[in-house]
Amino acid sequence: MKYYSTNRNSPPVSLEEAVRKSLAPDKGLYMPERIPHLPESFFNNLENLSFHEIATTVAEAFFGEDIPAADLKRIVCDTLNFDTPLVEIEDNILSLELFHGPTLAFKDVGGRFMARILSWSIAAGRNRKGKVTILVATSGDTGSAVANGFLGVNGIDVIVLYPKGKVSEIQEKQFATLGKNITAMEVDGTFDDCQRLVKTAFLDKELNDMFTLTSANSINVARFLPQSFYYFNAVAQLRRKGIADAPVFCVPSGNFGNITAGIIAAKTGLPVKGFIAANNRNDVFLEYLKTGNYSPRASVQTLANAMDVGDPSNFARILDLYGHDADAIRKEISGCRYTDEDIRHTIKDVYERTGYILDPHGACGYRGLKDNPGQGGYGIFLETAHPAKFKETVESILGKTIEVPERLAEFMKRDVKSVEISKDFLDFKAYMKSRIS
Ligand SMILES: *Cc1c(COP(=O)(O)O)cnc(C)c1O
Repeated sequence: MKYYSTNRNSPPVSLEEAVRKSLAPDKGLYMPERIPHLPESFFNNLENLSFHEIATTVAEAFFGEDIPAADLKRIVCDTLNFDTPLVEIEDNILSLELFHGPTLAFKDVGGRFMARILSWSIAAGRNRKGKVTILVATSGDTGSAVANGFLGVNGIDVIVLYPKGKVSEIQEKQFATLGKNITAMEVDGTFDDCQRLVKTAFLDKELNDMFTLTSANSINVARFLPQSFYYFNAVAQLRRKGIADAPVFCVPSGNFGNITAGIIAAKTGLPVKGFIAANNRNDVFLEYLKTGNYSPRASVQTLANAMDVGDPSNFARILDLYGHDADAIRKEISGCRYTDEDIRHTIKDVYERTGYILDPHGACGYRGLKDNPGQGGYGIFLETAHPAKFKETVESILGKTIEVPERLAEFMKRDVKSVEISKDFLDFKAYMKSRIS
């Protein structure tokens, strides 16, 4: 399968090249040239299949031409060494818990999958320089998922760029304490500055001559596509609960990679009634739905900080999937926006009524379903992180201490080590060169 650029000004490339380059030379994002339609028999039988069986089938449809079946199956099963349970919160509202992986957030799926694809490709001797440097900008959870997914993987160095003072202590501990092939870099700026540094590095000829640079942000096809696996698994679980209806999915969105993977799942034939993109105060997408105009702006800081994105990178993929037709988008995706006040109120209210503890991102997802009863039927929101990742916030809202899972408590005992840097690209470049000399 080839991958084309959403800007359509650079030639289609192989899977390996799309993974290694991340961003196309014309600055577009890579898309699979075909969205395979999965057979009716697969969908009819979904409830009888395990998560591994479902994900292997989906992975084969996208990657089967490029990766031998046995290797692909191993990559999928190694990636998904945890489940994504569907939990009923109240009538017609279910939580798809994506936080049972090593760093307690949905990004473990894409991070682990990409690490395994890249390491497969290096082992197959397909990388000219034999070593790959991953640059990843994070607003919190990407860094930990990618760093842990790649930790100790031969031939790969990872540099995690994060905005100073804008990620929680728990998040920082998960990517800035690892050592080995992982370097944490604290940037004096916002997440958008981090993202810009990474994007600029990919276009810098000198750096590209020195390093095989690869991104592990949600723009990378190897991170973005496997996120579709759990949408299928959600429908399978819904059926096992005796519910045959196609659900509405509400996705707490920042860079819009997660929701785009869901849209792709629906385009393979997965029965989905519609999507809701839940935003915090960073609501350029909602504004686009309302006005048809897309005007990116600087991000503002909120309680749901992994969604503090002012110019969502995967918006280009959504436009591409719908032929740049705002009405076509509106037919399948609606939007909503929540303030920190709304988030606080929702976490407290849901806990008091149901005993379920939401994290600030999942709170936006839950509210999106609650406020859009017009959609009717069953709603599934993606609970994208474990509430303990936002311990202080959630505890101050609930007025009680919450339990921290063992694997998270382990991280908290370690010391943070990071390189400090300004948001100026020249500083970043000088640092990169110093890694070689
Ligand atoms: C990254 C992240 C999001 C946003 O996901 P996108 O794919 O960027 O839209 C939402 N919630 C949490 C907890 C995250 O880490």
